[in-house]
Amino acid sequence: MVGETEHGFMFMAKIIVLIGAPGAGKGTQARLLESNLGIPHISTGDMLRDIQTTDTKLKREIKAILASGELVSDNTIFRMVKERTSREDCQGNYILDGFPRTPIQAKMLEELSKEQSKEISAILLDVPSENLEKRLTGRRICPICGEIYNIYYKAPKFERYCDMHPHAELSHRSDDAEEKVKVRLEKFKETTKSVLAYYERSGRLQRVKGVGTPNKIYERLERLVAANNVTA
Ligand code: AMP
Repeated sequence: MVGETEHGFMFMAKIIVLIGAPGAGKGTQARLLESNLGIPHISTGDMLRDIQTTDTKLKREIKAILASGELVSDNTIFRMVKERTSREDCQGNYILDGFPRTPIQAKMLEELSKEQSKEISAILLDVPSENLEKRLTGRRICPICGEIYNIYYKAPKFERYCDMHPHAELSHRSDDAEEKVKVRLEKFKETTKSVLAYYERSGRLQRVKGVGTPNKIYERLERLVAANNVTA
């Protein structure tokens, strides 16, 4: 799949790999990119949390892994990503949030990008580790619209309820509990370091400073995405 710039240059569609530690704000930023630029946002974490299957054993297994903060197997997650990105809305550019998380997944994505004739462009949302813990333990989510709040930084107008859906009690992800957060941050450091190095070595890694208000961070991110010729 190719596109054309205003000067008539052809370019390949992009897979934007948004990388960031848990709590770096990937979800918030990817949602903004999706709503402002119309680029589909594929979050493997959301897909796992929303999984609809009649196989209750599989459902239980996934739930247990999610609650523990450990990782789902590379093959399972790749099958899900491949299936999701083969749909009509991903024919052009799309954003991956939460994948790849391991070197094996990065290799799998390399093959998939060739099959889909797309280029990979990785963006790191860079947030100092001392900011991450509060962002995670304070996070609350509207079960209806998915709006993300934070009791420390972005509290809802009425405690525990979504501003847009006043009857919807905000949920607290089980893996945002303090002890799980520690496991997830450790896991991120352990596994994602090599994924970052991989994209850095091949000259496909760009960085966005992930501190400041969500809008400020978004401005930086959108500038970078536009410079890469990525539009819906
Ligand atoms: P996230 O919403 O991205 O923080 O993901 C929540 C949880 O989903 C993680 O802690 C993992 O258990 C699982 N998960 C999401 N993406 C992946 C992936 N690429 N590989 C393995 N497990 C994943």
